[in-house]
Amino acid sequence: MTFSPADHTRLEAFWRYCLTHQYFNVGYPESADFDYSLLHRFMRFSINNCGDWNEYSNYLLNSFDFEREVMRFFAELFHIPFEDSWGYVTNGGTEGNMFGCYLARELFPDATLYYSQDTHYSVAKIVRLLRIKAQVVASQANGEMDYDDLVARIAADGERHPIIFANIGTTLRGATDNIATIQQRLAQAGIRREDYYLHADAALSGMILPFVDAPEPYSFADGIDSICVSGHKMIGSPMPCGIVVARRANVERISVEIDYISARDQTISGSRNGHTPLMMWAALRSRSMDDWRERIQRCLDLAQHAVDRLRAAGIDAWRNPNSITVVFPCPSASVWKRHCLATSGDTAHLITTAHHRDSTQIDALVDEVIADLKAPGKPVTLSPLQAPLVDGLGSRNRVYSTVGQPRPELLPGHARPERDSGVARLKGSDI
Ligand SMILES: *Cc1c(COP(=O)(O)O)cnc(C)c1O
Repeated sequence: MTFSPADHTRLEAFWRYCLTHQYFNVGYPESADFDYSLLHRFMRFSINNCGDWNEYSNYLLNSFDFEREVMRFFAELFHIPFEDSWGYVTNGGTEGNMFGCYLARELFPDATLYYSQDTHYSVAKIVRLLRIKAQVVASQANGEMDYDDLVARIAADGERHPIIFANIGTTLRGATDNIATIQQRLAQAGIRREDYYLHADAALSGMILPFVDAPEPYSFADGIDSICVSGHKMIGSPMPCGIVVARRANVERISVEIDYISARDQTISGSRNGHTPLMMWAALRSRSMDDWRERIQRCLDLAQHAVDRLRAAGIDAWRNPNSITVVFPCPSASVWKRHCLATSGDTAHLITTAHHRDSTQIDALVDEVIADLKAPGKPVTLSPLQAPLVDGLGSRNRVYSTVGQPRPELLPGHARPERDSGVARLKGSDI
């Protein structure tokens, strides 16, 4: 590939832009501390996982063997025997949610799907695409589903086959819908287990709850029928991806119907990314369960640190149990925009992801939020370290550096990022 000088300059500028912003996403749960460099050489191949990793494919350049191992890991993580499960590496949480809703609709074609107000925006889109009747259920103050409203709506609809879309960690407030409570309430309403479908949207918390001491229920053993997780959130990946796991018996019911029309293909898209299964495999192989526990505990501790600091300053900050999402009153636009905080109505949130190796970035942000909220209307004065970018490689990076040092790759002419110590690294023997 050759570029004109102008195009070369343009790419160079984008490279610097990416370096500047790589850790600058405190409102969103994307972990940036990954290192897949041992996989870079596979970028020259057109790897395509179209179809099912469990079947022979005529397209030989696939990474099915790796995808199978990824799915084995998640079956175990979510407490379902591998042989009783089926799932695949998706393009992200949204596709996993769509797959779960699709399975549910194929099982109960006329059913109504119930999801809470706090549900990710993609679900409204999914129910429209799949033409599923849907009802929005009220949320409690912490973002968790209002179970009284759920059963009241099911009763009012006379719905005999409700599809329940449960959040295992909502996007804005990190709330987990209690699937044990949901099932108790359905049983009390006289709805038998085989008459409803329960999908768990665990885009972020699917990689948190299995690693904490006192998790809310989240697994197949707890009664779910399918679950999705995003790969680019807690795990971290350079391109969006995720996984979905479902009960094999349910998937086989749909695959029989699809069989009838064409080849056996249970996934949503035709061609599928063959590189992301490799990445997920690498991420999972390069960390032990204890590594994950440590990583997740660090994020939770940091979230609590932010809550403690804000509350000590008299600001009404809080987080849900086992959540790395810290909710607080929305500061001025200048503050949330500068820090890329996510906001909704009168609240904002920050998310403590694993590349925050110490509290430097969070503390700097908390300082500004406190200054802003305690002195409304007063312009926030910036310390030199917090000054906005000057030249695209400005001081802001140092504030947000996760290693507390100016990052060498931020210097012009430095071609490859140096990696933080302690991040996922592939061992040569794993390849
Ligand atoms: C991020 C998120 C999604 C969407 O996942 P993508 O990987 O971005 O498609 C869905 N649900 C929840 C709760 C999320 O946080």
